[in-house]
Formats: sequence, C-alpha cells, structure tokens
Amino acid sequence: MPKLRGHHLICLHFYDGEGYDDGFIENLEGVLKRIAAEGVVAAEGPDDVCGPCPHRREELCTYSRTADREIREMDRKALALLRLSAGGKVDWARLRNTVETIFPEWYATHCYLCSWRSVCEKSDLFLEFRRRLKSSSSSPPGGEVG
Ligand code: SF4
Repeated sequence: MPKLRGHHLICLHFYDGEGYDDGFIENLEGVLKRIAAEGVVAAEGPDDVCGPCPHRREELCTYSRTADREIREMDRKALALLRLSAGGKVDWARLRNTVETIFPEWYATHCYLCSWRSVCEKSDLFLEFRRRLKSSSSSPPGGEVG
C-alpha cells in the first residue's frame, strides 16, 4: 500500500496534472492510481511521491533553505487535523470527506500563503471547497478567503 506524508494526504486531493518534471508526474499519477485501489498509509518524512522529486536529497527536502523544517511542521499539522498517526491506513474516498471538513482551517493556515496555490486553484474540488468557505457565515481563522 502506498505511503503519503501528512500534507500530501490533504494536498493531493487537489492534484490536477502539474508537477516538477515528467518523471515526478509519472510516479505521482501511478501512486494515486494505486491509492485509489488499495488505500494509503500515513507516513512521516519522505514518501512514495517524494521518491523521484528533484528537490529530495536523501531524507531532506531542499526546495528552499527552510523547506524541510517547514514541510515537516506542515505534515504534523496535517496528521493532527486528519486524526491520523504514521502507520495508520485510510481509504482515499473517506479521507476526501475528512479533508472537506478540515478544509477551512487548512486553507487559512497553509493554502493562504502556499506557492502551489495557483495550481490548486485549477482543481474543481479545491474551488468547490473554497466556494463553500466563502459562502459560510464565519471567516476562517487567520484571515480572509482570497
Ligand atoms: S494551496 Fe498549497 S497547502 Fe493548499 S492544498 Fe494546495 S498545495 Fe496544499
């Protein structure tokens, strides 16, 4: 069963065909196909999507000088919101429903300043979740819905 780190358990629901390079995309799409059929195991650190990433150096993400620390913190927050621990198994369709419920907090604390946000904004699911957020009466913690 494929393994995904915390933030990938959320963000990959909004995957819409873009990635760092062809090898990364091919691997990612293969992993997502397997996850749809088999489910997914929550992981800490590099996962099955990080494998061929051009920014991975051994166990570290070198996307930026501070990326590894920031991404691990993001992973911890994601697992806590999803109420999952490393090693926990979950069905992808059920996880999507959980992502829907935690989306307001995730959006306010992570999407708002994320460099991949313009990519997620091409995802129908992301736009649908955000539309609901905009139409809900209360503002999300952390600021306006952009
Ligand atoms: S905008 Fe960034 S943090 Fe938000 S779901 Fe997309 S990739 Fe994840």
